[in-house]
Amino acid sequence: MTSVLDRTAQFGSASHLYCRECGAHYDLGPSHVCEMCFGPLEIAYDEDLQRLVTRESIEAGPATMWRYAGLLPAAPVVDLQVGLTRLVRADNLARELGMKSLWVKDDSGNPTHSFKDRVVAVAANAARALGFEVLSCASTGNLANAVAAAAAAAGLRSVVFIPHDLEAGKVVTTAVYGGTLIAVEGSYDDVNRLCAEVAGELPWAFVNVNVRPFYAEGSKTVGYEIAEQLGWRFPDQVVIPIASGSLLTKVDKAWRELGALGLVEATPYKVFGAQSTGCSPVSAAFRAGHEVVSPVRPSGIAKSLAIGNPADGPYALDVVRRTGGAIDDVTDDEVVEGIQLLARTTGIFGETAGGVTVATLRKLLASGALDPDAETVILNTGDGLKTLDAVEPVARPTATIPASLDAFRAAGLAS
Ligand SMILES: *Cc1c(COP(=O)(O)O)cnc(C)c1O
Ligand SMILES: [Zn+2]
Repeated sequence: MTSVLDRTAQFGSASHLYCRECGAHYDLGPSHVCEMCFGPLEIAYDEDLQRLVTRESIEAGPATMWRYAGLLPAAPVVDLQVGLTRLVRADNLARELGMKSLWVKDDSGNPTHSFKDRVVAVAANAARALGFEVLSCASTGNLANAVAAAAAAAGLRSVVFIPHDLEAGKVVTTAVYGGTLIAVEGSYDDVNRLCAEVAGELPWAFVNVNVRPFYAEGSKTVGYEIAEQLGWRFPDQVVIPIASGSLLTKVDKAWRELGALGLVEATPYKVFGAQSTGCSPVSAAFRAGHEVVSPVRPSGIAKSLAIGNPADGPYALDVVRRTGGAIDDVTDDEVVEGIQLLARTTGIFGETAGGVTVATLRKLLASGALDPDAETVILNTGDGLKTLDAVEPVARPTATIPASLDAFRAAGLAS
């Protein structure tokens, strides 16, 4: 038996794991599946410890996601200074879309330029506390970057598995941190299957497999930050991109916690989900009124959202339906338009997932599902520099001219 103090130093205010399906309890540890019913495990908290957190204690904390350490299942022994990213008023975009009040939560400002730094920050510290020396994952990009960087900062070994045909931009931005990078001759699904086999053989922390319950809690910090940055209140509506569906469910979990702890007045909010049509299993289930999500084979340019069999899909559906939101999906052409629209109106260059979210916002407004007069926050979860290929064909020089004043004048671009 460890004392509460020991446990808090390792696992913050987390108390145990429980099964989201049958409710069975487990000790905190590297497990993610219920032994009784194979349901996913989730972190539960010691409410007395969580109640020690006040607005003042948060505001006196570091200017990172770790200002909410008292609400998380890990303590920041290693810290890349992740989070507390900007919440930007998007007045030009709001005007263009006929909206009254719109904000962009811009997670491209994280250390490896996506929101994945948040989940990996919690996973890396929990993995250390659990005695792991190797941090591992299967990834198509953003997670690979975040794991390799967090391991470098923590002095842990990283072993990252990627499909061999990834874009150079994602290979370089992972390999540069000096970990082990294994390019597997196969698809992302092949890489995933291999990792499941390796996880059975070796005592490694696979951030989104055996330590996934800890990892997933990192996404709550997006929700905490939005509420604090709005002056300790919730927006009326939020639009969140869906890959596995975890981020969407955790923003809702964060807001329910803040309400229950009395840190924010529990006003109602609606949660909306965004997918790309090339990989839209949760959107399809929403439209069909289904509670289960049928797997699909992903296609299209929004690769960071390309999870065909989303683990948290059914839970994301629950959150959206309970709050009165909706889920929709957009084509690749709309994703590119979304990236351009966000960039042109806000000065924020989002990755394809950001394009998915902006384009879905527009579609939800057009269908009447989203209220243009209600205060809305949208998430930009990654940096456009990582997905240049998507916009390269439409983001070209306005003109190419000889280096002469006459040529400039002739181009007719003075006004
Ligand atoms: C992983 C990822 C998401 C969504 O994550 P889930 O929690 O799996 O739904 C969104 N945007 C970007 C850029 C990502 O890399
Ligand atoms: Zn169970």
